[in-house]
Formats: sequence, C-alpha cells, structure tokens
Amino acid sequence: MGGTAWVTLATNDSYALGALVVANSLKRVNTVHDLAILITPGVTLAMKNELLRVFNFVKEVDVFDSRDETNLRLLARPDLGITFTKIHAWRLTQYSKCVFLDADVLIVQNCDELFDREELSAAPDAGWPDCFNSGVFVFKPSDSTYNALVDFALVNGSFDGGDQGLLNLYFSNWSTADSSKRLPFVYNMCSTSTYSYLPALKQFGSKVKIIHFIGSSKPWLQHFDSSTRIITSGDSHLTNFLQLWWDVFVVHVHPTLTTEMSVQRLS
Ligand code: UDP
Ligand code: MN
Repeated sequence: MGGTAWVTLATNDSYALGALVVANSLKRVNTVHDLAILITPGVTLAMKNELLRVFNFVKEVDVFDSRDETNLRLLARPDLGITFTKIHAWRLTQYSKCVFLDADVLIVQNCDELFDREELSAAPDAGWPDCFNSGVFVFKPSDSTYNALVDFALVNGSFDGGDQGLLNLYFSNWSTADSSKRLPFVYNMCSTSTYSYLPALKQFGSKVKIIHFIGSSKPWLQHFDSSTRIITSGDSHLTNFLQLWWDVFVVHVHPTLTTEMSVQRLS
C-alpha cells in the first residue's frame, strides 16, 4: 500500500499501441509515478510482453470470469463489458492513489501534480461541461468503492452505454461540490476543440498538458509516411500533437515491436 500509479486500459492490440505511447509520453516528461495497465484476453501474448517491458504492473482482467466471485453478478449484463473493465481500476489496491488515462491520450507536459488531487477529480466534458470526461481522472483504489460501483451499475446502468455515463451518475456531485475536483481543461484537451472552439485552441494550445484524441480518428489510424516520418493526414489544427504522438511511437515504441506486430498490420 502507498504507491501511486498512472493506470490505463487496453482490450486489444490497437489500443495497446496507444497505451505504449501513453507510457512512453509519461517517461519522456520524467514522471515519478508507476505505470500500470489493465488488459483483457483480447491482447495477444506478444503484445503483453511489449507492455511488460514498459509498465511496472500489467494486470489481466476478465470481467466475465465466473471464477471471480465479485464479478459473478456482471454475467447477466454483457452489454456493460468494457465499462466494467475500466472500473476494475478501483481494484488496484496496492496503490493509494491513481490517475486513470484512456489509451488515446498523449502527455505533452509533466503533470505529476495531478496526484495532489482527491477522488474524483476530472476535467469537464467538451460536449456537456456539467459532466466530466472519463478519459482522465484521479481516483483512490478501494474494493468497497469497486463493489459499490458494480452495485450501482447493476441498478442504474449507464445513460451513455459507457463508463462515462456510469461514473458521472455515481460521482454525481462532481460539478457542484468541490471546485478543486474540477481539473482545468488543459489536463484533458479533447481533440474536438478544433471545431468546437478553435480560437481558444489557438490562444491556449501551448498550455495543453494532456491531449485526448476522442472519437473514431485515433492517432494510430492516421496516415504516417515512414520515410519522411511526417504525419500527412488528419485535422491540420492537431498536426503538432499528432506529430508528437508519432514521434514518441517511432522513437520509443516501434523499435522494440516484434516484426509481426509492425504498424502496417494495423493500418
Ligand atoms: N478501450 C479499449 N478497447 C476498445 C475500446 C476502448 O481498450 O475497444 C479502452 C481504451 O483505454 C480507450 C478507453 O477504453 O481509450 C475509452 O474508449 P475510447 O478512448 O475509444 O473512447 P472516446 O475517448 O473516444 O470516447
Ligand atoms: Mn478516449
């Protein structure tokens, strides 16, 4: 007990590539906190070995594992599968505090100070700012919170079908209770800001600490020219962030990947 860790999640090899970039982007800015990842059986063994190289702790979870007593109640709700995979993060009780990061974020500047915040701290969602975005949040692992979240979800479900809807209902006073739990948007700058508020992105973009590539156009799905090492597609206002994502990938992730896991296979 007592350690601190960044926690991410991958249920397949594509998201695991994102997770490897997340981890290396944290190392690039010299984080002092551990790196932990939750994976499911959808991640290949070869990829798991890559993750073991970079992460301090790799935890395999299977929400539909009927040998796991706590999970038995979930078997009736297969629709909530990925949602529950994320809330498994509360079971990492060897840590006293964690920050969850989606696998589609990129750390641009050191933000170790997030660990000074309390559960549940998160940044507003760009689409509905009275809700928090669940791609970046500070939490405290606890078996009792995990159980309470499971109980809550079985009764209330999730209004958006995902973890964000569930977590916003459970931590329902986030927007009104304690302003220190409302993280500045620069800790979870959603890529949709390029069209929702471009002047603000131009004004404050250099202050961004974490960029979150929400939606379907993930960085690993963009066209990257491997000879010039330049990113040639995607939203032009995000070019610098996408280029940084690919620079981290090319320098730190790609060289250690085994050949059968080359990036071509994923495009
Ligand atoms: N995720 C995953 N496999 C999936 C979908 C999601 O591992 O098939 C994990 C991954 O960590 C991802 C997070 O769940 O970052 C949330 O999904 P996503 O980032 O795609 O949602 P968005 O942020 O675009 O709403
Ligand atoms: Mn995301």
